[in-house]
This record gives sequence, C-alpha cells and structure tokens, in this order.
Amino acid sequence: MSRFLADRLRALAPYTPGEQPQDQTYIKLNTNESPYPPAPGVSEAVAAQAQKLNLYSDPAARMLVEPLAQWLGVTPGEVYVGNGSDEILAFLFAAFCPQGAAFADITYGFYPVYAQLWQLDTTVIPLKQDFTLAPESFLNINRTVFIANPNAPTGLAFTREEICKIVQWNPANLVVVDEAYVDFGAESAVPLTQQYDNLLVVGTFSKSRSLAGGRLGYAVGKPDLIADLARIQYSFNPYNVNRMTMAAGAAAVLDTEYFAACTGKIVQTRARTLQILRCMGFVATQSLANFVFVRHPALPGEQLYHALRSRGVLVRWFNRPRIHDYLRITIGTDEQMDKLFEALRQIIQR
Ligand SMILES: *Cc1c(COP(=O)(O)O)cnc(C)c1O
Repeated sequence: MSRFLADRLRALAPYTPGEQPQDQTYIKLNTNESPYPPAPGVSEAVAAQAQKLNLYSDPAARMLVEPLAQWLGVTPGEVYVGNGSDEILAFLFAAFCPQGAAFADITYGFYPVYAQLWQLDTTVIPLKQDFTLAPESFLNINRTVFIANPNAPTGLAFTREEICKIVQWNPANLVVVDEAYVDFGAESAVPLTQQYDNLLVVGTFSKSRSLAGGRLGYAVGKPDLIADLARIQYSFNPYNVNRMTMAAGAAAVLDTEYFAACTGKIVQTRARTLQILRCMGFVATQSLANFVFVRHPALPGEQLYHALRSRGVLVRWFNRPRIHDYLRITIGTDEQMDKLFEALRQIIQR
C-alpha cells in the first residue's frame, strides 16, 4: 500500500472476481457467463462502430435505449444504461443511500464492498436456514434496500407479488431489485416500475445476453430516478458505454429469437444438471438462475472445489460462513456439464 492512499480506504476489502485463467484449458463454470456466443448480428454491429472509434459515443446511448425500452415495455425516459450493472450499483450506493443500505447476509458479494467504499451504515438481513427470506424481513428498514432477485449464489427468487409488498412497505426508501439472472425463469419486477416511484430494477447483458466482456447494464424506473442516475454519470464519466458495446447491446436486444433459444437451452440444461447431481447425492437449491448451488453431504466444498480444479473444471467456492460447503456451478453447454459429471463421479468414487 502506498503512502498516498486515503486513510479511509486502507481497510477496504475489494470484491474478489471469479478466476479468469488465461491458459484456456479449463471448463469454466465459475463466473456465470453464457456458454453461447453473442447473437449473430453482434459482430457486424461492433465492426461498423469500430470504424468510428475516433468519435465519442452518445452519452445518452439512444441507439440502445430505444430498442431496450421497447423490449422492456417502458418508455426510453424510464431506462438508463451503464458500463455493466456493477457501475450502476456503484452509483446507487454512492448517491441513493442517504440513510445507508440494507441487504441479505448471503447475496451478491459486491453490495458490502460498495457499502464499505462509500462508508455507508448497513443493515444485514440474515436469510433463513434454507436460504429463503420472508418479505416481512424488509419491514421498517429505513435504508435503501438491495435485493438480488433471483439471489446469488442461492438462485432462489421472490415472486413479483412479494417484491411488490416490499416496495409498498418501504414508501420512504428506494428499493433496488438486481435482476441479473431474471431471464432464466423468475418474475421480473419491471412492470411494477409503472406504479411505484421507489422501485428501481437493475439488469445486465452479461448473463442472458452473452455480453459479459462488453460491459453493459441497465436500470428501469421512474424518469426522475433515471435522470438522477444520468446526473451522476455526467459528473463522473459521461461516455461510460463505448460505441461498440452500445451497438452490440442493440443487436442483442433486437434478436429476440436467439435470446429465447439461449435462455431456453440453459433452463433445460439446468433441469438436467439438477436431476443428475441429485442422483449423485448432492443437495441443491431450486435455482431459477443460470447456475446451481449444491453441496455433497460427504465432501466439504473446499475439497470438491480443488478436486474439480485439478481435473480441469472451474466452479465457484465461497470461503464464507454458512455456505462454505456449497459450490456455485454455472450452467454451461450439455457437453461441458457432461465433463463436470464425469469429474464428480471420479471424485466421489475415491
Ligand atoms: C453478474 C452480476 C452483476 C454484474 O453484472 P455486470 O453487468 O457484469 O456488471 C450484478 N449483480 C449480480 C447479482 C450479478 O450476479
């Protein structure tokens, strides 16, 4: 640590991203990327923009916001786009948490990091033993509420009705619903944004739209919330979404058939994966995301993680209380999952 870093940041524990090994020999089931390439129209759209890289991108991202709003069933004034949903979450923690932030004890690992970065008071809400949470847990919070729905890494989701209750019970507070995994079977809260001015739904192109490397996220809410997000953007980095990513996002949104095919296939492979893992003795949550969250009663999570890694399969293991015997395994192609099953059979036999 240099002597120049601000005192208040010396104790900051940064987010630990999943490994991105460069030797390409692993079956990569550790960061919830899509195993499928971006929509076929994306390459061409990106190539066309590459010719114009001498020019700044449109800070309002209109070529993307318009088709995205149409897809979401809202007006362009109700949609914001940013450099990954992580950037949008950073803005929300920085500027929309006047009383602090509230989130579950087991949820997206970036929430506590942002809260620490911006020095916020936090309320941590413990999930029940089975990793579910009653909507009542969010009564009288009086802080900005962050809910990953479906939750990560459990894959469990609130219904739209439950989200609606949480929003209604917190009229004085903003409720942020992070829907990174919603396209794999959960109910989106986007329609509720038409009714409630204290709801902001955040989404990403990283998982269901195969654009993790492009860095693109979005938020949906009342126009005044969207304008406030733009105000932060224009005070920080106006050209936050580059023109190639913007074009990639627009091409991805317009190809509704490809989107349906990819998400449908992942849902199908998830069902098959859960069935096979349960036959092998694993205990699993009923995940609605593009990953499963599993443990084996006879094998500690850490041991399984290392044994899989040595057999060329990367999964995510969290060295954290309550979940250290679990693995979060991204749903890949059927062929990738077959290699996972084979490795697990060898490990369990020994
Ligand atoms: C992956 C993920 C994100 C980050 O998405 P980016 O758009 O790639 O920054 C946000 N929230 C949750 C819950 C995620 O799993």
